[in-house]
Amino acid sequence: MNFDAMFEEQLQALKDEGNYRYFKELERKCGKFPRAANHEDGQKRDVTVWCSNDYLGMGQHPSVVAAMCEAVQRTGTGAGGTRNISGTNHDHLLLEAELADLHGKEAALLFTSGYVSNWAALSTLGSRLPDCVILSDSGNHASMIEGIRHSRARKVIWQHNDVADLEAKLAALPANVPKIVAFESVYSMDGDICPMKEIVEVAEKYGAMTYLDEVHAVGLYGPRGGGVSEREGLAHRITLIEGTLGKAYGVVGGYITGSAALCDFIRSFASGFIFTTALPPAVAAAARTSIRHLKESSDERMQQRRQVARLRAALDREGIPHMHNDSHIVPVMIKDPVKTRMLADYLMDEWGIYVQPINYPTVPKGTERLRFTPSPLHTDADIDHLVNALRTLWRQCAIAHAVA
Ligand code: PMP
Repeated sequence: MNFDAMFEEQLQALKDEGNYRYFKELERKCGKFPRAANHEDGQKRDVTVWCSNDYLGMGQHPSVVAAMCEAVQRTGTGAGGTRNISGTNHDHLLLEAELADLHGKEAALLFTSGYVSNWAALSTLGSRLPDCVILSDSGNHASMIEGIRHSRARKVIWQHNDVADLEAKLAALPANVPKIVAFESVYSMDGDICPMKEIVEVAEKYGAMTYLDEVHAVGLYGPRGGGVSEREGLAHRITLIEGTLGKAYGVVGGYITGSAALCDFIRSFASGFIFTTALPPAVAAAARTSIRHLKESSDERMQQRRQVARLRAALDREGIPHMHNDSHIVPVMIKDPVKTRMLADYLMDEWGIYVQPINYPTVPKGTERLRFTPSPLHTDADIDHLVNALRTLWRQCAIAHAVA
């Protein structure tokens, strides 16, 4: 059998529909964010990154960099084992305590990524709780969907952010089966925020557990960066909060927080926790420094908010269509995969602006977009430059007129 031919056939189909995934090769420069070098065709040129999930630039914050360097010198590069077999270092436990404190929970458990934490936690809960039903928001991230699928628990999908639909679906289930309501706070592609209080109230009414993904909110919302659940004073009413260390905290890794019994249960049964090498202790040390910094300082969050508002106001002035939401995510809608890619290429080649086109299956077909994430380190001049580029594109370029 010619396996390569089989692979290539499917890849070609992706290319034909404009949905083939490619990436830009970047060289991040410590202390220069959002500036980076782009390597292309043997050339290297400076670009401004507009699509990073290092939302606050913490991945290059001097205190976080120093913490990682210090911990590498102290502990070496790797953890040396799975968490249960020699891989648990003091730094891991300090970080778990920090995370539990961040969310006001009894315990926390680290994973190698946010993806793994969702996958491992949901697959364990869904498979281990007898007759469990998981009620999943239709906009949930792939990592939650895969975890639920792997659990083989019954799944009920409720319409995105629609509490009436959630309630109807909860009411239709038998009263005595365990139910988990799984949802996110900030949805990463549209940037919309869930009606958390209403969801929690409905879940409580039906005795359901709440499973909240705060990946795009931790570090960014709430007075200590505890996410939307902290901002709304709801963290204590949510059974499990899941987050990442790889976005606003600028490092890598994922976690869950909840009761001591819940975390011990997942720690004891989740293969995605048990059978994989622990995060390097230096990663844990850096993440802890980042979390502590953002617990104490709101400067980064406030400056980010100012820059987000500035970009939105400028887009409105120019009549450039963008999705209105209450978060830090600014999606400019193009609604065609090929045009989105062309616009992204043009921004990169002509203006030194890097934004990755967002196509299917990350977003539904026909909703392709450019997703901008202003950080506190984007200057006013960066924003003016971006808006200038988009204005020129919208006015001069036929493809842009066709979508405006
Ligand atoms: N949940 C959501 C909502 C996400 O968007 C992502 C990643 N984009 C993840 C979980 C996974 O997090 P990580 O990148 O840490 O694996």
